[in-house]
Amino acid sequence: MKTRVTEMLGIEHPIVQGGMQWVGLAELASAVSNAGGLGIITALTQPTPEDLVKEIDKCRQMTDKPFGVNLTILPTIKPVPYEEYAQAIASSGIKIVETAGRNPEPFLPLFKKAGIKVVHKCTSIRHALKAEAIGCDMVSVDGFECAGHPGEDDVTNLILLPLAARRLKIPYLASGGLGDGSGLAAALSMGADGINMGTRFMVTKEAPIHENVKQRMVDASELDTSLIYRSLRNTARVFKNSIAEQVVDIESRSGETKFEDIQPLVAGVKGRALFEDGDLDSGIWSAGMIVGLIDDIPSCEDLISRMVEEAESIIRERLAQMVSN
Ligand code: NAD
Repeated sequence: MKTRVTEMLGIEHPIVQGGMQWVGLAELASAVSNAGGLGIITALTQPTPEDLVKEIDKCRQMTDKPFGVNLTILPTIKPVPYEEYAQAIASSGIKIVETAGRNPEPFLPLFKKAGIKVVHKCTSIRHALKAEAIGCDMVSVDGFECAGHPGEDDVTNLILLPLAARRLKIPYLASGGLGDGSGLAAALSMGADGINMGTRFMVTKEAPIHENVKQRMVDASELDTSLIYRSLRNTARVFKNSIAEQVVDIESRSGETKFEDIQPLVAGVKGRALFEDGDLDSGIWSAGMIVGLIDDIPSCEDLISRMVEEAESIIRERLAQMVSN
């Protein structure tokens, strides 16, 4: 498939791996890139900007294909030196950055000077238009189905993607609720030039997380996600385990919820430990509604090639036959 996304990012297939805290390491990013998609290293998974540079170098040893770096700017428990991470990315020779969370405008001059293409993740059309206006090269349109932070508008991709097609001039990726060839074909038909997947790539052989987490997501249905931090206007979709249910319960009590009330349950370090030891009720982890459509743990190569094959056959056969008479 040749789209504005494959052309701009220099990749074979229009499939991008989304930034994922604790998951976006060189192992996964290189596997996605070697399979013809775009792998992404998550900057804040590395404890310091120097460690990020080392992880980028490691990924370069593992693939000669393009890969990018995600920089997420959202509330955190400990302050993050975003400027230093951005400097490290710019001087590392990376040519593609996915920004998410707050407006990336302060970092654009630095990234542009380094010849970096910036893909900003947006959960609303107004944010996508703003990203286009400030000079982002591409946006990732993130529907309510997605894992992690879906924003506060609760609009699904069936509405967001055609709206983006009507209003945006720059190319965009569809993000959220995608994990098979029918999703890829649907996203392309609604105007996207490619797709971004996070949760589906967590359930692959190369994802650097415990097998228990992968198997739990294979066993899960589309009902197995929870929305937390709604009361704090920092909504996140996570896998529905006992910790997520406790957080929802605390938030539903009368009176204002303070972040401190839930902080011990949700700290990112606990999520990281869960990915390492496989204790499924010791923290929270991000997961999208697509868990309901995930039935196996393929390699990234097998996943990407079968998705592209399925999408091509839907376009060439099923849809073509419908209009051939
Ligand atoms: P962390 O340990 O600092 O915080 C844990 C969670 O609590 C995060 O989701 C964070 O957004 C939230 N949080 C922290 N302080 C908050 C506050 N004052 N009010 C409301 N919510 C608050 O975060 P981490 O797990 O080390 O992750 C680092 C960064 O990556 C954070 O910005 C986080 O939001 C982001 N992240 C994004 C996704 C995603 O799917 N988009 C998933 C995981 C983490």
